[in-house]
Amino acid sequence: MTVLTQPTQQPTTTYLKDYQVPDYLIKTTDLRFEITDGETLVSSMLHLYRNPAASSPATQLTLQGADLELVSIAIDGRLLETTDYAFGEESLTVFNTPEEFSLITITRIKPETNTSLEGLYKSRTMYCTQCEAEGFRKITYYLDRPDVMSEFTTTVVADKKYPVLLSNGNLIAQGDVGENRHYATWHDPFKKPAYLFALVAGDLAHIEDSFITCSGRKVALKIFVEPKDLDKCDHAMTSLKHSMRWDEEVYGREYDLDIFMIVAVDDFNMGAMENKGLNIFNTSCVLAKPETTTDAGFQRVEGVVAHEYFHNWSGNRVTCRDWFQLSLKEGFTVYRDSEFSADMGSRTVKRVEDVSLLRTLQFAEDAGPMAHPIRPESYIEISNFYTMTIYEKGAEVIRMLANLLGKENFRKGTDLYFDRHDGQAVTTEDFVAALADASGRDLTQFKRWYSQAGTPRLHITDSYDESTQEYSLTIKQTCPPTPECQHKLPFHIPIAMGLLGSAGDLPLVLKGAEPDFETSDNTHRVLELTQAEQTFVFEHVQEKPVPSLLRGFSAPVKSTFDYSRADLAILMSRDSDGFNRWEASQQLGLHIINDVIAQFQVDQHLTSVSIDPSLVNAYRQVLRDESLDKAMVAYMLTLPTEAYMTELADVVDVEAIHYSRAAVRSHIAHELRAEFLAIYHDYDHQQAYAATADAIAARSLKNVALGYLMLLNDDAVIRSCEQQYRTANNMTDVIAALTQLVNAQAPLAQTLAVTALADFYEHWQHESLVVNQWLSVQATCVLPHTLQKVQALQQHPAYDGKNPNKIRALISSFCNGNAINFHANAGEGYRFLADQIIVLNAQNPQIASRLLTPLTKWKKYPPARQVLMKGELQRIMAEPKLSKDVFEVVSKSLV
Ligand SMILES: [Zn+2]
Repeated sequence: MTVLTQPTQQPTTTYLKDYQVPDYLIKTTDLRFEITDGETLVSSMLHLYRNPAASSPATQLTLQGADLELVSIAIDGRLLETTDYAFGEESLTVFNTPEEFSLITITRIKPETNTSLEGLYKSRTMYCTQCEAEGFRKITYYLDRPDVMSEFTTTVVADKKYPVLLSNGNLIAQGDVGENRHYATWHDPFKKPAYLFALVAGDLAHIEDSFITCSGRKVALKIFVEPKDLDKCDHAMTSLKHSMRWDEEVYGREYDLDIFMIVAVDDFNMGAMENKGLNIFNTSCVLAKPETTTDAGFQRVEGVVAHEYFHNWSGNRVTCRDWFQLSLKEGFTVYRDSEFSADMGSRTVKRVEDVSLLRTLQFAEDAGPMAHPIRPESYIEISNFYTMTIYEKGAEVIRMLANLLGKENFRKGTDLYFDRHDGQAVTTEDFVAALADASGRDLTQFKRWYSQAGTPRLHITDSYDESTQEYSLTIKQTCPPTPECQHKLPFHIPIAMGLLGSAGDLPLVLKGAEPDFETSDNTHRVLELTQAEQTFVFEHVQEKPVPSLLRGFSAPVKSTFDYSRADLAILMSRDSDGFNRWEASQQLGLHIINDVIAQFQVDQHLTSVSIDPSLVNAYRQVLRDESLDKAMVAYMLTLPTEAYMTELADVVDVEAIHYSRAAVRSHIAHELRAEFLAIYHDYDHQQAYAATADAIAARSLKNVALGYLMLLNDDAVIRSCEQQYRTANNMTDVIAALTQLVNAQAPLAQTLAVTALADFYEHWQHESLVVNQWLSVQATCVLPHTLQKVQALQQHPAYDGKNPNKIRALISSFCNGNAINFHANAGEGYRFLADQIIVLNAQNPQIASRLLTPLTKWKKYPPARQVLMKGELQRIMAEPKLSKDVFEVVSKSLV
């Protein structure tokens, strides 16, 4: 018999309030996969028993299943008749089920034609799985929900042309099946939900190493890749060992199996997946070597390897009760990996990078139609909730908790959480309760961060009374309405701060409070804002200070304080908080660009602009300051991005932002030409590559200098840039030079760019990840006619419209990273994106849905653009057979 799932006409919404414990639980899960070309037979034997916690004894069992062909079904050895069960949409209900029984099902699936990349599918020459969130139901009928945790034994049988057969846990048996086939059996002693299941079969090579845990156990570490990529695994292995040590030292968490494996897969929707003992990675997040990988790529590999490894405790040993709790594992684990990266490199630089991401992408999400709290109340398709809010804002919420509790109490809290809930599926409330219990702090109000969406606004004012030497800060908090809530209650917001006087940080005497000796000289403290409006008074303040607010970005909020340009220059040069020095540079940059925007809006054809010298003066000081890390100098000399300015604007004027920012950049380039030339020429272009923080910082500053110099249209600079492209020994410098050539308007640069692009492809065409960078450089070119080039590249042999990495490199880069071209006036960019989504909707709904983001922001644009963007959303909505993923985002965006 065959059952094919029909696409839903009216997708249903799942609500947190409807949560019910499962009627049945699964003690053991025994799976056998018979992989043959064209189809795979999955035999599943489940040992089921009634859940003692269920409200009434169940007499039927409903399992989830999608795109499966049921071959047979039996209870306790008895084959069932068709009247014993019934199919629903994505489900199978078995009637008259006893208290405890074994259920054997045999299903047939077709991994070769599974383009959704969920469940079991074939990527190039290998079979692999992706089950989070609800992919396991595409493998077999199961209780596919995270609160059903079971002990898995998995046998994989395949042709010997797939010599490597892997699953979760430890290998317990292997051998031949006839002449041409073989099998491997894996047993995972740790109970886990189905979303953590993994299977891999392929012709893979691997590197191997080992790790001795804190209790002295030896763990085998293996990274599996296609043989051609074997020379790109060392960085991931080093990162893995660093992560394992760090988690022991910082969280007291030891690894638990005898083996830990990573497999790299080319076709993958996500970055990577933390399946127990068998992590599956997008190749882009595991492969790295200097010739093919940029510094950002190296750092991504380190961060993602750590992230997935840390999930072994925050996610796997203690998992989520339901998918509304996704941030329980993701927010916490992003916080953990971000602290790990901070410890491995520069803490301030990492913070600047994280906050930049949060403030552009997450704040925009919080202000758009898909805004949701970090613990949402409802969803149509859970895949749509793997968002910046769940991950990045979720991590900020954990960071605030860590800062409010202090290092020691936070560790006590996480220890209690892991001990109390090991082997359980729990909620965000359980997490916060463990922290509250361990620290003795009342976190009741703090929990509003879990249930209220939106980015809180802080309006901060100050006053200084010279006669009493009192300085006061008044802070008002508000939060704009979001789809789930119109009127927000005040949040509990930690505001780290200090006061700058003429000779440096001033001592802080907060009226009615004990001194805070977190810094030995008492110049730094965390104010706790809990009311809608609160005033904090500091005593014995001998001069009018410049306040340094939200140090280290201590809360994910938007704040306003009326700093003068002189104040910002002081913060830029003297604040003891590195993050706030950068923040001041961004704010000053905004002032200067906004001056130009004002001129631009009066006269769109203005030929010369007047630019306040304060920014260039401040940049000069930064360049002279030898105490600063070069990476920080590079960031401080980089103007606020177009994406950040777009997020800040009430109505986005795409051209004004683009051209005004460009005018200020050009002005800086001319004013600081000598300084940038010195940086560029003093850099040792022949030095051997290292992925250390210092080396990355030096490259980054040198390439920022190159970026400015290229605005001078100077033939000598253009030739230096081309020389960097040709002679650099690492991909960071190659891509930096190529990007500059491609974006430069000078005819010489354009000629050299054409040759360089052809040369690059010729050289790297067999390295898929490198080709992706080549696609991205072209897709983000700000010059005219880029859309036509993108469309032409879709026909290029380098492009594969089924591979998510290629789609991201070309389509997503153009639509998200090239505002001036994507928002072209006639709407051709919007039409192009909608066309892509319509094709992908059938093929890979997750990716289609993710691509929608730029169109969902239509309300932020002027009326003419709104009409065009909305029109494309309506065109998508009118498509027959919309996937749940796309339906949810489009329908919510059109409200
Ligand atoms: Zn994760």
